[in-house]
Amino acid sequence: MLISRKTFVKSIAAATLLLPIGIKAVMGKGNKTSGNGSGISNKTYSWKMVTTWPPNFPILDEACKLFAGMVEEMSGGRIKIRVFGGGELVPSLEIFDAVRNGAAEIGHGSAYYWAGKSPAASFFATVPFGMNAQQVSSWIHAGDGLVLWQELYANFGLIPLPAGNTGVQMGGWFNKEINTISDLKGLKMRIPGLGGAVLAKAGGSPILLAGGELYTGLERGIIDATEWLSPFHDSLMGFDEIAKYYYTPGWHEPGTNLEIILNKEKFEELSDDLKAIIKAASAYCGTWLHAQMEAKNAVAYNELLNKGVEIRTFPSEVIDELRKLTKEVINELAEKDPFTKKVYASYYAFQEKANKYSNIAEKAFYNNLQEDLS
Ligand code: CA
Repeated sequence: MLISRKTFVKSIAAATLLLPIGIKAVMGKGNKTSGNGSGISNKTYSWKMVTTWPPNFPILDEACKLFAGMVEEMSGGRIKIRVFGGGELVPSLEIFDAVRNGAAEIGHGSAYYWAGKSPAASFFATVPFGMNAQQVSSWIHAGDGLVLWQELYANFGLIPLPAGNTGVQMGGWFNKEINTISDLKGLKMRIPGLGGAVLAKAGGSPILLAGGELYTGLERGIIDATEWLSPFHDSLMGFDEIAKYYYTPGWHEPGTNLEIILNKEKFEELSDDLKAIIKAASAYCGTWLHAQMEAKNAVAYNELLNKGVEIRTFPSEVIDELRKLTKEVINELAEKDPFTKKVYASYYAFQEKANKYSNIAEKAFYNNLQEDLS
């Protein structure tokens, strides 16, 4: 709702008074950062953090270790967090349950891995043709996103915190050109989640292969194509050595939001200042992670260009068809349970407005991006 000019002018006049009240309102109840004796405690904690990322996975695992280091430093050593990569303590896709049942206190991953728990989970990570990094961050922080996400995870005794974004991903590596939607028929592609469901509707075969099997899978023709992440991580996988074309855009992952998950009971045992430290470190690690992605992808993309990698853009007819099929997949998802329907309604109401604005702001600017700055 728009604030009236009169109210706005009045609020400006009272701005000096508003600041501390404003901060309190944003932090919410039970989030006092210091003060009344219950805020500071010398109790120490030794926590385990489990992640969905392979051990030492660049940027993602680094962000988790950065988070753990910051928490330890800010808390004066009162919380020590040991980070375990996927498979080190529990398998990657079991971290949700590990944090839920208290085997670990905290985790880092992305909500779409938990789509089996609730179809609504995907919206808190990414959906095909959904919101990009800054739009989804706006929905989470300034729309209803975080409240809905908290409502969903409360059913599992968990608290989610947004903790980074991959940015828009690439469309993947292909050994054949995609000129019409029928080129996707029979295509064996590693593309997980809802993107895979859309490919299946287009007549393709989404194949599940672990990260370590992708290179040989593509090399030996077990798969015809694979998506992974973006230029930096894709280059580390060496896909440019064995695939002919690098396609854009990553319609299936337009801005994958990442998460920290907390065991609610363990988190609530913490004093208020430690709670605030966890939240602040998670916000910082998210900003760091996204910045690293953008910076390293830009460098890696330029290196791929220098190597002569052939970049292809999906033709707009193919994108239009994929968008139609996505709508079918997501509508089917929303019909599965009332909560998913509620999240779906909030997400798309927000995206519709955001897209209109992005078209005249971000996109208008992007249409005039200058690549040669010499
Ligand atoms: Ca991906």
